[in-house]
Amino acid sequence: MTGTMKGHCLCGAVSFEATVTKAESGVCHCEMCRRWTGSALVTVSIMPEDIRFEGAEHIRAFTSSDWAERAWCDRCGSTLYYRLTVDDYGPRTYAMALGLFDDPDAFPVTEEIFIDRKTSAYALAGDHRRLTEKEVMAAYGGS
Ligand SMILES: [Zn+2]
Ligand SMILES: [Zn+2]
Repeated sequence: MTGTMKGHCLCGAVSFEATVTKAESGVCHCEMCRRWTGSALVTVSIMPEDIRFEGAEHIRAFTSSDWAERAWCDRCGSTLYYRLTVDDYGPRTYAMALGLFDDPDAFPVTEEIFIDRKTSAYALAGDHRRLTEKEVMAAYGGS
Protein backbone atom coordinates (compact mmCIF):
# COMPACT_ATOMS: atom_id res chain seq x y z
CA MET A 1 0.00 0.00 0.00
CA THR A 2 1.22 3.48 -0.86
CA GLY A 3 -0.11 6.94 -0.10
CA THR A 4 -0.24 8.96 3.10
CA MET A 5 0.87 6.94 6.10
CA LYS A 6 0.89 8.09 9.71
CA GLY A 7 3.02 7.19 12.66
CA HIS A 8 4.13 8.28 16.11
CA CYS A 9 6.53 7.48 18.94
CA LEU A 10 5.60 5.53 22.06
CA CYS A 11 4.47 8.61 24.04
CA GLY A 12 2.95 10.48 21.10
CA ALA A 13 5.03 13.65 21.50
CA VAL A 14 6.47 13.13 18.02
CA SER A 15 4.15 12.20 15.18
CA PHE A 16 4.41 12.34 11.41
CA GLU A 17 2.62 11.99 8.12
CA ALA A 18 4.58 10.57 5.22
CA THR A 19 3.86 10.18 1.54
CA VAL A 20 4.93 6.63 0.80
CA THR A 21 5.85 5.77 -2.79
CA LYS A 22 7.48 2.40 -2.09
CA ALA A 23 5.74 0.06 0.34
CA GLU A 24 8.85 -1.78 1.49
CA SER A 25 11.28 -1.87 4.38
CA GLY A 26 14.94 -2.64 4.86
CA VAL A 27 16.85 -4.17 7.76
CA CYS A 28 20.35 -3.27 8.92
CA HIS A 29 22.35 -5.65 11.09
CA CYS A 30 25.48 -3.49 11.46
CA GLU A 31 27.01 -3.15 14.90
CA MET A 32 25.92 0.49 15.29
CA CYS A 33 22.28 -0.33 14.51
CA ARG A 34 22.43 -3.34 16.82
CA ARG A 35 23.67 -1.28 19.75
CA TRP A 36 21.33 1.62 19.01
CA THR A 37 18.13 -0.43 18.77
CA GLY A 38 19.12 -3.43 20.85
CA SER A 39 18.61 -5.74 17.87
CA ALA A 40 18.38 -4.70 14.21
CA LEU A 41 17.17 -1.48 12.62
CA VAL A 42 14.13 -1.91 10.37
CA THR A 43 13.29 1.19 8.37
CA VAL A 44 11.14 2.68 5.62
CA SER A 45 12.79 5.19 3.26
CA ILE A 46 11.01 8.53 2.97
CA MET A 47 12.22 11.43 0.83
CA PRO A 48 12.83 14.63 2.84
CA GLU A 49 10.06 16.53 1.03
CA ASP A 50 7.57 13.71 1.68
CA ILE A 51 7.41 13.86 5.48
CA ARG A 52 5.85 16.32 7.92
CA PHE A 53 6.60 16.11 11.64
CA GLU A 54 4.53 17.30 14.57
CA GLY A 55 6.28 17.80 17.89
CA ALA A 56 9.63 18.24 16.16
CA GLU A 57 10.88 20.09 19.26
CA HIS A 58 11.01 16.69 20.96
CA ILE A 59 13.37 15.22 18.35
CA ARG A 60 16.96 14.80 19.49
CA ALA A 61 19.73 13.44 17.27
CA PHE A 62 23.03 11.74 17.93
CA THR A 63 25.77 12.25 15.35
CA SER A 64 26.81 8.63 14.94
CA SER A 65 29.32 9.14 12.13
CA ASP A 66 30.77 11.84 9.90
CA TRP A 67 27.87 11.28 7.49
CA ALA A 68 24.77 10.38 9.52
CA GLU A 69 22.68 10.99 12.61
CA ARG A 70 20.25 8.88 14.63
CA ALA A 71 17.19 10.53 16.14
CA TRP A 72 14.93 9.71 19.07
CA CYS A 73 12.07 11.23 21.08
CA ASP A 74 13.36 13.11 24.11
CA ARG A 75 10.32 12.13 26.19
CA CYS A 76 10.02 8.37 25.62
CA GLY A 77 13.29 7.43 23.92
CA SER A 78 11.66 5.82 20.87
CA THR A 79 13.94 5.27 17.89
CA LEU A 80 12.74 7.70 15.19
CA TYR A 81 15.10 7.68 12.24
CA TYR A 82 18.55 7.39 10.71
CA ARG A 83 19.44 10.17 8.30
CA LEU A 84 22.41 11.28 6.22
CA THR A 85 23.89 14.63 7.24
CA VAL A 86 25.95 15.08 4.06
CA ASP A 87 24.97 15.23 0.38
CA ASP A 88 27.71 12.86 -0.86
CA TYR A 89 25.42 9.83 -1.07
CA GLY A 90 22.30 11.36 -2.63
CA PRO A 91 19.25 12.96 -0.97
CA ARG A 92 19.08 13.09 2.83
CA THR A 93 16.40 10.42 2.95
CA TYR A 94 14.75 9.62 6.28
CA ALA A 95 15.15 5.97 7.21
CA MET A 96 12.07 5.97 9.46
CA ALA A 97 11.80 3.19 12.04
CA LEU A 98 9.18 0.73 10.79
CA GLY A 99 7.63 0.25 14.22
CA LEU A 100 6.49 3.89 14.41
CA PHE A 101 3.97 3.45 11.60
CA ASP A 102 0.32 2.83 12.50
CA ASP A 103 0.28 0.09 9.84
CA PRO A 104 3.71 -1.56 9.90
CA ASP A 105 2.30 -4.55 7.97
CA ALA A 106 2.18 -2.31 4.89
CA PHE A 107 5.96 -2.54 4.46
CA PRO A 108 7.32 -6.03 3.79
CA VAL A 109 11.08 -6.48 4.15
CA THR A 110 12.79 -6.38 0.74
CA GLU A 111 16.42 -6.18 1.81
CA GLU A 112 18.74 -7.01 4.70
CA ILE A 113 22.17 -5.43 4.85
CA PHE A 114 25.25 -6.34 6.88
CA ILE A 115 23.82 -9.87 6.94
CA ASP A 116 27.24 -11.23 7.95
CA ARG A 117 27.05 -9.02 11.07
CA LYS A 118 23.66 -10.36 12.17
CA THR A 119 23.55 -11.98 15.57
CA SER A 120 22.71 -15.70 15.43
CA ALA A 121 19.96 -15.09 18.01
CA TYR A 122 17.39 -14.55 15.26
CA ALA A 123 16.88 -14.70 11.49
CA LEU A 124 14.24 -13.16 9.26
CA ALA A 125 12.25 -15.46 7.00
CA GLY A 126 11.50 -14.69 3.40
CA ASP A 127 13.18 -14.61 0.04
CA HIS A 128 14.64 -11.10 -0.27
CA ARG A 129 18.01 -9.51 -1.02
CA ARG A 130 20.70 -10.09 1.61
CA LEU A 131 23.95 -8.14 1.36
CA THR A 132 27.17 -8.64 3.31
CA GLU A 133 29.20 -5.72 4.67
CA LYS A 134 31.54 -6.02 1.70
CA GLU A 135 28.65 -5.96 -0.78
CA VAL A 136 27.10 -2.93 0.97
CA MET A 137 30.38 -1.03 0.84
CA ALA A 138 30.71 -1.84 -2.85
CA ALA A 139 27.11 -0.80 -3.56
CA TYR A 140 26.74 2.30 -1.35
CA GLY A 141 30.23 3.28 -0.20
CA GLY A 142 29.14 3.85 3.39
CA SER A 143 26.95 2.56 6.21
ZN1 LIG B 1 7.86 9.97 22.51
ZN1 LIG C 1 23.23 -0.21 10.43
